[in-house]
Amino acid sequence: MGDSITKYALVTGGSRGIGRAVSLMLAGMGYNVLINYLSNEACAHKTLAEVRGRGVKAELLQFDVANASEIDAALTGWIDQNRDKTIEILVNNAGIRKDQLMMSMSDESWYSVMNTGVNGFFHVTRLVIREMIKKRYGRVVNVVSLSGLKGVPGQTNYAASKGAIIGATRALAQEVGQKNITINAVAPGFIRTDMIGDLNEKELAVNIPVKRFGQPEEVAALVGFLASPQASYITGQVICVNGGIL
Ligand code: NDP
Repeated sequence: MGDSITKYALVTGGSRGIGRAVSLMLAGMGYNVLINYLSNEACAHKTLAEVRGRGVKAELLQFDVANASEIDAALTGWIDQNRDKTIEILVNNAGIRKDQLMMSMSDESWYSVMNTGVNGFFHVTRLVIREMIKKRYGRVVNVVSLSGLKGVPGQTNYAASKGAIIGATRALAQEVGQKNITINAVAPGFIRTDMIGDLNEKELAVNIPVKRFGQPEEVAALVGFLASPQASYITGQVICVNGGIL
């Protein structure tokens, strides 16, 4: 790859929580960052300033990962208008949870979690992987969940979405391995972000070997490694960051 190409990392849901920590980690590694978010402008601008504070370029790219035409307009538009730049790293991080027991789960809870998770992964990755294949280099890291591996009651929607992404991670890794592109997933346990602000850490930590929830930075450290050139022989893997929950 020529030096004239400016390398970017795209982090979906990069403005808050784990995504924010990942954006800062990748900036610290010298990558310019495209920070995607849904609607919280204030957080997005705050994270943008923090990322730029690490001495790299950064841009906000607002789109709803659950909306294929929004993704197409925003991302295809950015790729077409920035032919001197390339997305070398994609972190599919945006996700939501809407917990309900299956017997009373609404269609909305099912479809919104699936659309944001698995369909978001599909539409964003399909666009970005085409560019990575042309450049013959790329790193994709999918943020999944403990729930997608072992299942959690009240989360059939969320577990199905994350489980689907885990399957796709393994399949896609085999499709693009020879193109110098790696596809991996990280599966966090309980991480202190807005998403689980309703959970009682003191009660739940009893069952976590390290006896606490994790910090977003502890997930970002692994994402940063998997996104680095050094992780070139790791692909198709799901790696847990969960304080030792088996
Ligand atoms: P947060 O709720 O703290 O942050 C979510 C981020 O995703 C925000 O930047 C939000 O943007 C963005 N987002 C949400 N929906 C969309 C959408 N439709 N389109 C684009 N962006 C969107 O979540 P976490 O940081 O906790 O979670 C990040 C990922 O980690 C998720 O995939 C989650 O499933 C996973 N995870 C989290 C765990 C935890 O304990 N926190 C455990 C296991 C997995 P905006 O600010 O505009 O709303």
